Amino acid sequence: MRWRWRDCLGEVESALLQVCRTPELGGHLYQCPHCRAEHFVPHSCRNRHCPSCRGANSVDWLDKQAEALLPIPYFHLVFTLPHELNALIQYNQAALYDRGELQFGGCVEPLASPAKFRRLVRQACRQKWVVYAKRPFAAPEAVLGYLSRYTHRVGITNRRLLSLDAEARTVRFAYKDYADDARRMVMNLGLEEFVRRVCLHILPPRFVKIRHYGILSTRNRTRCVQQARTALGVRAESNATAAVAPPPESTTPVEPPASTFCCPHYQKPGLILIRVVRPPRPPPPPDDTS
Ligand SMILES: [Zn+2]
Ligand SMILES: [Zn+2]
Repeated sequence: MRWRWRDCLGEVESALLQVCRTPELGGHLYQCPHCRAEHFVPHSCRNRHCPSCRGANSVDWLDKQAEALLPIPYFHLVFTLPHELNALIQYNQAALYDRGELQFGGCVEPLASPAKFRRLVRQACRQKWVVYAKRPFAAPEAVLGYLSRYTHRVGITNRRLLSLDAEARTVRFAYKDYADDARRMVMNLGLEEFVRRVCLHILPPRFVKIRHYGILSTRNRTRCVQQARTALGVRAESNATAAVAPPPESTTPVEPPASTFCCPHYQKPGLILIRVVRPPRPPPPPDDTS
C-alpha cells in the first residue's frame, strides 16, 4: 500500500505542508538597495506538523505560557503509559485523546478476543502506574522551555533529513540509538515506510496535544492569574518573557524581518520590502491548535 501525506493528514493539512515556503502561499518581495536585485521570500504554512514551521509555533507558545508564570515553585509531573499499549493506542487515538469506545481493527483485531485483551491488561499491570514527580532543579522558565520542545516536536526535523534518492524512492536520515548510549546513526528507508513512520506522530484533525486546567484554563486564565499575582503581592512585569530561552532548534519565523536577509551579491543586510505577494489561490487557514 502506498502512503501519502493525504492519507494521514486530511486535505487541509496535506495541502499546506506540500506548499510550505513555496510561491503557492505567497511571500514577501524584497529589493537590495545596493545592487537593486529582487529577492522573493515565500510564506510558511504554520501547520503544527510541519517540520519547518514547528519552531515558530513553539516560540509563540512559549511566550504565551511565560506570561502566566508565577514566582512560586513548580513541579514537573510525568505519567507514561506502558509500551504494551502502543498498538492499541495508535489504533484508538480518538478514544484516547477525547472519549469513545475502543475499536479493534487492523493490527489490533486479535485483541477483540476477551482472553487476549485480559492478557494485555495483565501485561500492562505488571508495572506500577505511578506519576513521576520531581521538583525541577532549574527555574520554571527552563521547564517551560523543555515542555515547549517536547510538545511542539514533529516526527522528524529538517536537519535530520540527509538525502532523498528519487529514483530508488529512499530517504536517508540521521537518528540517535537510545538503546546504544544515544549513538548517532544513519538509516535508509523506503519512501512509503518513511512517510508511514512520520505519520505515526501526527494527531487526528482537531485534536490537541496540550490542555490547560485550573487557573490556566483558557476561560479563566487572565482573571485567575491576575488574582494569584495580587495574592502573592507581585506585579506582572516580574515574569518577563525575555527570561525564557527559545528552543535551540527554533527555525525561521513566518515572515522573518528583512534585516536578517543578506543580498547574495553584496553580503550585507538591509533589504527593503517592496510588496507582499498574495498567494495565487486563497490558502487553507493555518492550524493553530497546540
Ligand atoms: Zn545586492
Ligand atoms: Zn510549514
